[in-house]
Amino acid sequence: MKRTVSIPVDLPAQRFLPLINQCAQIFNAHVDWAFANGTYNKNKAHKDLYHMLRGQHPTVPSALLQTVRDNALEAIKATKFKSIPKKKPTSGLRYDKRTMTLRGKQLTLSCIGKRVTLILDVPKYFQEVFETWEFCGATVTYTKNPKQFWVRLVFQTKNPQQIEGQVQGIDRGLYHQAVTSDGQFFSSSKIRAVQRRYLHNRRQLQQKGTRSAKRRLKAMSGREKRFMRDTNHCVSKKLANQHRIAVFVLEDLSSIRTQRRGKKMNKWLGSWAFYQQEQFLTYKAEALGKRVVHQDPRYTSQKCNICKHIRRTNRHKSRFHCKNCGHRTHADLNAALNVRDDYILSSTQGTEEQASVNMPDVSAGAFG
Ligand SMILES: [Zn+2]
Repeated sequence: MKRTVSIPVDLPAQRFLPLINQCAQIFNAHVDWAFANGTYNKNKAHKDLYHMLRGQHPTVPSALLQTVRDNALEAIKATKFKSIPKKKPTSGLRYDKRTMTLRGKQLTLSCIGKRVTLILDVPKYFQEVFETWEFCGATVTYTKNPKQFWVRLVFQTKNPQQIEGQVQGIDRGLYHQAVTSDGQFFSSSKIRAVQRRYLHNRRQLQQKGTRSAKRRLKAMSGREKRFMRDTNHCVSKKLANQHRIAVFVLEDLSSIRTQRRGKKMNKWLGSWAFYQQEQFLTYKAEALGKRVVHQDPRYTSQKCNICKHIRRTNRHKSRFHCKNCGHRTHADLNAALNVRDDYILSSTQGTEEQASVNMPDVSAGAFG
């Protein structure tokens, strides 16, 4: 398990900005070379490129050039040539053990000219990870607004401490960002209202097509993204912080779209905002020693949580009415309960009787 923290730092811009820019060029040269030669072999790349790039960028330390080479080739290896991982001149610069050292809170980074040493201001909530986990890397980034350098530190541990507690199923839909198996509803009506307004404004500006309209479109897209990010932060924080919950069960996103859930629903499921919500919940939960797990979503919306009878017509929009036992409830709540119970069943291979109890004490071992 990995954890990351970003810390604002003061770095000499006249040395770091050209360095970041040149390292992006070195990175891209390796990407081009790999695609032209159909390989991500480090030794071959070194032979073909090293001397040429040293000549082009004489001020970039040799160790840093090698770090950038490894990063570029590993990025290609990770996607097996399926995407081109090009860097912009302002993209972050990743350091490894060759090019930096961390002693206590003192971080030393390779740079143009002499190495730069700085003392990190580690936030309180990160103190424990910082002191006990293994440090595996740092990335230096620069933001223009405000003009600020950042160091992103990555730590990892092999045995994350996991806390014990109850299991909670979460259903995510169009009308609710989240509905939990214990009956909490996080409405998305405000999100949908805001998105509708942005869509309307976007269409009008697109029709205009003038230069100022394009500028306003861009600003608007930034505002919409920030709004969604804030909303996602808020909901995922509330979910992750629930005291008694240790395991969150979500429907498996990879197969969720294969179900026929309508055009609107599939569009939402495929959106970055939906993905972001899951990312936020995962990292906030893991930071607290909790877990997010995934469950096969088949029949979760059609199955009655009381008698387990499956029928498509059990669900009508947000209403659930079981044709077998007559049970009536909110459709999303029924789905959240099914997600939770399916997970408990599949992970303990217990009886349905066990599954209908929200196991008050889930030992980490049973789910390992
Ligand atoms: Zn029923």
